[in-house]
Amino acid sequence: MIYADNAATTKTSRTAIEAMTPYLDTVYGNPSSLHSMGQAANQALTSARETVAQCLGCDAKEITFTAGGSEADNQAITTAAILGARQGKKHIVSTAFEHHAVLHTLKKLEKQGYEIELLDVHEDGLVTAEQVAGAIRPDTCLVTVMYANNEIGTIQPIAGIGAVCREKGVLFHTDAVQAAGHLPIDVVKQNVDMLSLSGHKFHGPKGVGALYARKGIALQSLIEGGAQERGKRAGTENVPGIIGMAAALKEACEHMDENAKKVSAMRDRLIEGLSAIPHSAVNGALSPRLPGNVSFCFEGIEGESLLLLLDDKGVCASSGSACTSGSLDPSHVLLAIGRVHDVAHGSLRLTLCEENTPEDVEAIIAATKDVVSYLRAMSPVWRDLQEGKRQFIL
Ligand SMILES: *Cc1c(COP(=O)(O)O)cnc(C)c1O
Repeated sequence: MIYADNAATTKTSRTAIEAMTPYLDTVYGNPSSLHSMGQAANQALTSARETVAQCLGCDAKEITFTAGGSEADNQAITTAAILGARQGKKHIVSTAFEHHAVLHTLKKLEKQGYEIELLDVHEDGLVTAEQVAGAIRPDTCLVTVMYANNEIGTIQPIAGIGAVCREKGVLFHTDAVQAAGHLPIDVVKQNVDMLSLSGHKFHGPKGVGALYARKGIALQSLIEGGAQERGKRAGTENVPGIIGMAAALKEACEHMDENAKKVSAMRDRLIEGLSAIPHSAVNGALSPRLPGNVSFCFEGIEGESLLLLLDDKGVCASSGSACTSGSLDPSHVLLAIGRVHDVAHGSLRLTLCEENTPEDVEAIIAATKDVVSYLRAMSPVWRDLQEGKRQFIL
């Protein structure tokens, strides 16, 4: 099996598993307990918080652990909305290609009377600091723009957007779930007020994440209960998960440059190989792009069939975002960058990590070429394109 779906989730690393095991096995105390086993767990939690803070360039007090990236996004946005409403500010700026954890939270706020402005994304998969500057109004309480897109891998100019927000006195949140552990983060230099990350996107465990909130931002709790996480997130802490996430993040940050070099070389070869398929195109600009992301559209085929046949050939891929709703709508990300429906349906996302090999890449290229030809040979749309009854778009 070749695993090329690292944007969906990653394999938990040995380092993370070994760091977690004692906290499942022997040091299983509740960090709120006063006995020594509880206090040992509490100390490990403190140390994990310091590790995560170091990786982001912030203070440990500014880190709140959550049950994943979605929860961190929900909490950051909800916090800014509540704080904004207190000052009569109910306008929020975001983009059309955010993750659903962001978009659906914004939809909910819209129903509660907030005004949501989603910036258009250029066909290269980028939004600019100028666009953000142009959208900010006196009643804007939040700008939320993702660091790197999970489907097409394009990297947004976070520091520039942060500078604009800081200058205008507007809170800036970034969903850095695809970036953490893969791209440099320095919340001070990048002028970020709140940032979300998730353990399972950088070889940590699933169901655990973190929210950075700059000192002075009164995070609003989404869950009522005990006083864990300084009252910002009730519920007994996921101690093994948090320890595993911190260990994985530290390892990813220590090896970031060498991993990026290795993975981006494989990415570029994969893009080159797949580009030989006629009537295909990469989604978004080639650069700046996440080291492991390859996103393509192939005309005249259906992405779902493509990925099921790739699975038969031993390649785990994705058609874009995980289509959990079972809807036939194409990806909102591909539509946001201007792909028409027919083309957006033929999408394929391959996301590599440092455990992939150049041999994997050659096998993926060969398998994809075979499957695309096979599907096109039996596609009525492809026949119409061949016979000139339909115009090629790509
Ligand atoms: C995976 C992902 C999330 C959600 O994180 P979970 O930990 O799975 O809840 C949010 N945003 C982006 C960009 C992601 O890739």
